[in-house]
Amino acid sequence: MTKTTIVLIRQDLRLHDHPALYHASKEGLVIPLYIHDESMSPPGEARKWWLHRNLEQYEKSLEAIGGCLLFDEGKLEEVLPKWVKKTEAAAVYWNRLYAPDIFERDKKLAEELAADGIEVKTFEGTLLLPPWKITKADGSPYKVYTSYYKALRKVEVPKPVPTVKSLSAPEIADNEMQLEDFRLLPQIRWYKIMEKVWDPGEKAAIKRMKRFSKQVQDYDEGRDYPAAGIHSTLSPYLAIGAVSVRSLFHHFTEKIEKQTEPFIKQLIWRDFSYSVLMHFPQSPEEPLHEKFKAFQWEENASHWKSWIKGRTGYPIVDAGMRELWATGFMHNRVRMIAASFLTKHLLIPWQKGADWFMDTLIDADTANNSMGWQWVAGSGFDSSPYFRIFNPTLQSEKFDGEGEYIRMWVPELKDIPSKYIHSPSTAPADVLEESGVKLGVDYPYPVVDHKAARQRALDRFEEIK
Ligand code: FAD
Repeated sequence: MTKTTIVLIRQDLRLHDHPALYHASKEGLVIPLYIHDESMSPPGEARKWWLHRNLEQYEKSLEAIGGCLLFDEGKLEEVLPKWVKKTEAAAVYWNRLYAPDIFERDKKLAEELAADGIEVKTFEGTLLLPPWKITKADGSPYKVYTSYYKALRKVEVPKPVPTVKSLSAPEIADNEMQLEDFRLLPQIRWYKIMEKVWDPGEKAAIKRMKRFSKQVQDYDEGRDYPAAGIHSTLSPYLAIGAVSVRSLFHHFTEKIEKQTEPFIKQLIWRDFSYSVLMHFPQSPEEPLHEKFKAFQWEENASHWKSWIKGRTGYPIVDAGMRELWATGFMHNRVRMIAASFLTKHLLIPWQKGADWFMDTLIDADTANNSMGWQWVAGSGFDSSPYFRIFNPTLQSEKFDGEGEYIRMWVPELKDIPSKYIHSPSTAPADVLEESGVKLGVDYPYPVVDHKAARQRALDRFEEIK
């Protein structure tokens, strides 16, 4: 009798380097099954839209090679065993996910299925290497990125498995659930701009990878300039698994004869974030440095509103927050500036900012996001020290000199001369008038004064030092 294997589809919506799908496809009939389970780490609103669009594409990709993506919803540990029974599958394969609660749940589920005589195999399909592979000699986790990076670079990253080109699927009766039933698309079409900016699916991801291959030699110098567009914009595809990080690693280290290591370093930050998350599961909620538990944060609803709406009066922060709202993405340098402004100028807890990002980013990723926020806030391992407080105006002058990025996202400032675009409140009255800007009407005055806010943050830090 031909073996039937259920392959759980999760954050791996691709045919290339999909170990679970590849191995199952070599062994017999395959049932790719997506179970929508919001009981653990439910996706944010922007991510739901992205998930829907990518699942649509993936369904088509599987059909094109003879497969059929099945949908169901509910708790994985309750729904999957029903499918095993219903389809008389002999095996269940999946690529491992590394959110600690999900990982533990999956482990338990694997044991239960195995106890029922089902063959369970799990594979690496999310990271370059599993989080337990790169540890110090005594088995303890690295807390410093550079050491992690050096250790990982000494280890061979496995080659991607071949792309799945055909599937044999069994006939399944009663497959009544459709993607639309998950209601991932919001009722109000606030995602109109996102539809224009992002092409979902594996093909679009590969296209971006190829486009970036032509720019990668400029990445080291150009990556900090938000208007330059010299970064890969692959994070949304990595987050959903439309592209495999191992494929990216091998593509850029072997096929591209240019300086690619600065880019590889960023991919390894992603592995490092997961290692921190797996070893310190509290990191999305709690500061990794104990002393930050006593930090006195502020709750100021009007400051919060100004930040999320992109109306703080600091144009670079506002441009970033508006880019995020419109596109579900924000440039890395601007993420750092906006996050620093929230946690240090406004003293609003980083966890609140992190939650907002998780809800609005299409690349929302618990490991990278909590790493990013703890790094900026100064409470994480290997972080930027708390006393190093970004001056948003200087950052803006340095990384968006002509204000190209600001003009794109804060159009009410588009006619202000570059000299004043980083800090419109310092522009003389006639300049503002000629530029058609009425401060306090068209564009806000700064919600806090930089110098005073900086001092307040430093004083607050003194209390826990
Ligand atoms: P590139 O510069 O082209 O880098 C290539 C890839 O390397 C990225 O796609 C990403 O997978 C990885 N990478 C790059 N920088 C980092 C980093 N600092 N940490 C970990 N991995 C990195 N990234 C997310 O994927 N999801 C998040 O939710 C997220 N939240 C963040 C929150 C804050 C406050 C900060 C400061 C950073 C956050 N990042 C997050 C990291 C980083 O900003 C994005 O990965 C990057 O901007 C994505 O753009 P790109 O694909 O063009 O990156």
